[in-house]
Amino acid sequence: MRAEPDTDVIVVGAGLAGLAAAVELQRRGHRVRVFESADRPGGRVRSDVVDGFTLDRGFQLLNPAYPAVRALIDLPALAPRRFWRAVRLVDGDRSRLLGHPFDTLRAIPGLLERGPVGVRDVLALAALSARDLAGPARLLTGAADQTTRAELRRWGLSGPCVDQVLTPFLAGVFADAELTTSSRFFHLVWRSFLRAAPVLPAGGMGALPQQLADRLTPGTLSLDTPVDAVAPGTVLTAGTAHRARAVVVATDSTAANRLIPGLAVPDWNGLRTFYYRTTTPPLRQPVLTIDARRDGPVCNTAVISAVAPGYAPEGQALIAATTLASSNTGAATDTGDERAVRDQLARLYRTGTRTWELLADYRIPHALPSMAPPHELRRPVCLEPGLYVCGDHRDTSSIQGSLVSGRRTARAVSRDHPTGAAGRG
Ligand SMILES: Cc1cc2nc3c(=O)[nH]c(=O)nc-3n(C[C@H](O)[C@H](O)[C@H](O)COP(=O)(O)OP(=O)(O)OC[C@H]3O[C@@H](n4cnc5c(N)ncnc54)[C@H](O)[C@@H]3O)c2cc1C
Repeated sequence: MRAEPDTDVIVVGAGLAGLAAAVELQRRGHRVRVFESADRPGGRVRSDVVDGFTLDRGFQLLNPAYPAVRALIDLPALAPRRFWRAVRLVDGDRSRLLGHPFDTLRAIPGLLERGPVGVRDVLALAALSARDLAGPARLLTGAADQTTRAELRRWGLSGPCVDQVLTPFLAGVFADAELTTSSRFFHLVWRSFLRAAPVLPAGGMGALPQQLADRLTPGTLSLDTPVDAVAPGTVLTAGTAHRARAVVVATDSTAANRLIPGLAVPDWNGLRTFYYRTTTPPLRQPVLTIDARRDGPVCNTAVISAVAPGYAPEGQALIAATTLASSNTGAATDTGDERAVRDQLARLYRTGTRTWELLADYRIPHALPSMAPPHELRRPVCLEPGLYVCGDHRDTSSIQGSLVSGRRTARAVSRDHPTGAAGRG
């Protein structure tokens, strides 16, 4: 005799993918439980409060143009604070703004100045942008895939423009210094940047998963509950077996591979963010600063409190500086690295940084699943009847990828296990 399941669906992991899956399953009338090993939901999107500062666990941005964000998130409720759609490019003693000319008028002179971005680059970027902005998404997702670096050269962008502007900018987006990431993903991200300026929620990036968690019916989410093993229709936590019609593994790829041996998962790209406090903001513009010469470990830096003042207490400034981190869990904090970061920040902001106080150093070797070409944008989510997998590693390494993978997995579960008497029979 078959034992009655405890619930319809068990979701393992309350990152964005697991939360999106659970919300969608409940909307479709399924009984759902979510088991999360950490003490809070959010996975890789969490924020800490340290001495009154809000620190995201690794600098990251929310792009309001991501289709899944538009579909699933109440953006005004997050009180988004907007970045300029431009970068401040520092080249030795000179700095200039480069960006979307219609969005940030101040970026126009920077585009016209002599430098790494020539007239032919402006024309090539305009053509690439017009195609990415106006064309249907399937034109981007269905195109031949190659590395982003090769793709940028194919569009006619010059070596200086790629090496001194686009590489420093995109290296931070992909956590990939050589731009070996899939060009399909590049075009999707570029399209999102063209469609909307990136934002930070006033209360920190952690407000994003919290909004989804708050939509779950009370009692759905069990925190501090690591799952030790899964099988179709069964989940094991601390020696207790829980039964369901379907199990969705919504963990990061490494944990998914532990729970489902043999599951093919990509390598990781790592990131590391240093947060500093000071009383005098080194810049008042809400913009990302990048280094044309890549003269140090910093990929990008921003005065976070110039974008979202609520991240810092009154009279204080919060600065984030992000470097690439080795994806293997090697040495922890290295003071040599920190000194190099501080020195480079002094050059980038043209100010002394010795008195800045280091608030936190987040080293995240498992930040983004790497996406080498050819990258499959939608990997299968149903592994066998009753066992599903979702997360950014099934779609793209992004907030969009994790949300959309959660939602499409929920749809697959719902299709295979309809609700109601017929479905439960
Ligand atoms: C530093 C950094 C910067 C980033 N910047 C951006 C950005 O600017 N824009 C963007 O779009 N994306 C960015 N990303 C990527 C984005 O944050 C991730 O792609 C996304 O959050 C992944 O969500 P997920 O739900 O797939 O996985 P995760 O967030 O990893 O969630 C998995 C969850 O499963 C839980 N779990 C694991 N094992 C178990 C177990 N055995 N039992 C129970 N629970 C378990 C984990 O605790 C976790 O909560 C960044 C990521 C990082 C780390």
